[in-house]
Amino acid sequence: MHDTNDCKQPPGHFRPVIDRRRCEGKGDCVRVCPVGVFAVGTLPPALREGLGLRARVKGFAHRWQQALLVQEPACEACGRCVGACPERAIRLERVNR
Ligand code: SF4
Repeated sequence: MHDTNDCKQPPGHFRPVIDRRRCEGKGDCVRVCPVGVFAVGTLPPALREGLGLRARVKGFAHRWQQALLVQEPACEACGRCVGACPERAIRLERVNR
């Protein structure tokens, strides 16, 4: 089995990006992240802007409960959240510094 820790990096080099059209707030990312990057909570209205009708209906149906980034700088790029998300809503992005 592929060990997702192969890609582990010092904190601050990568960050998770959550696709707001896909996230359903199931919380698998919260459970697998070893450094507490995520929490499930109500998506702030500012992060709902730009979503299409379909995504808005879906968000409303889930009471806008989604994964939120509460400790983004702690990300070590282990990739566990990417593999754990059943909606394939998370990708990792390099932080430009
Ligand atoms: S890649 Fe690893 S450390 Fe970074 S947010 Fe996902 S589970 Fe947490």
